[in-house]
Amino acid sequence: MIEVYRRIKDIRERIKKLKQEEKTIGFVPTMGYLHEGHLSLVRKSVKENDVTVVSIFVNPTQFGPGEDFSSYPRDFERDKELLEKENASIIFNPSAEEMYEGDYKTYVVIEELDEFLCGRRRKNHFKGVMTVVLKLFNIVQPDVSYFGQKDAQQAIIITKMVKDLNIPTKIKVLPIVREKDGLAMSSRNKYLNEDERKNALCLYHAVKEAEKMFEKGERDTKTIKDKMFEVIHSYDGVKIDYIEIVDLKTLKSISKIKDKALCALAVYIGKARLIDNTILGGSFEDLGS
Ligand code: AMP
Repeated sequence: MIEVYRRIKDIRERIKKLKQEEKTIGFVPTMGYLHEGHLSLVRKSVKENDVTVVSIFVNPTQFGPGEDFSSYPRDFERDKELLEKENASIIFNPSAEEMYEGDYKTYVVIEELDEFLCGRRRKNHFKGVMTVVLKLFNIVQPDVSYFGQKDAQQAIIITKMVKDLNIPTKIKVLPIVREKDGLAMSSRNKYLNEDERKNALCLYHAVKEAEKMFEKGERDTKTIKDKMFEVIHSYDGVKIDYIEIVDLKTLKSISKIKDKALCALAVYIGKARLIDNTILGGSFEDLGS
């Protein structure tokens, strides 16, 4: 039976015991409503570690005003069943009050890297993400932590935080898991109605177009981005937040791709804000995390 902890002091005790037994701990932080993307991280962790801890916590501090914190899909019992099938060992499912007790005051911020891509529109989003991830690292004390390339900026920022703050966990970033037709899996896909679901394919097609152009030798980012805008505009009911090609380390826009770059986009479709990305000319291993 998978173990479920809701209190920090209880999971701490369990972790202490595991450390005494010299078990290696793999950690997968999530907001729940699990899909194959999450499960790919869990599978990898189960394979590589003695014990896998999965956190399920819809973190209020990473949602801005008017965002979908209260409507974010939740189904703990289903998540628990899925994790049990994958042989995860422990679920950490704290309440918001447990994580942000009383007069909460301490946050983690990163310079510059939170100003671009998703950070431009979602003010304070990465401050909330970094804060909760550092708190979870302190509670779970994982040897290895698993993140998805789906949230590329998050993975880059967490990798940098771990390096800058000497946090003793290794970060592994795994590829984007997609539906059969190419749509990147996301808990937020649940918001899409039938028509919106069809139009959501615009993200994948734009990403594919960028990859094709890059493979054919195109290195001018404006030419690639113009084509991506064209692809997106050929779909109905899609509002573009951003389409960017940026340096993998600084996240700043570049005009020419030298060897590799992160190509990322975000769009609004109905109630959903969806993201996708690809690394042109490389992979996440190039981050050297
Ligand atoms: P979330 O529950 O959305 O906070 O995601 C938890 C973790 O799962 C993050 O590291 C995400 O990047 C990762 N993830 C979400 N969707 C996917 C996907 N389609 N493929 C791979 N990883 C994913």
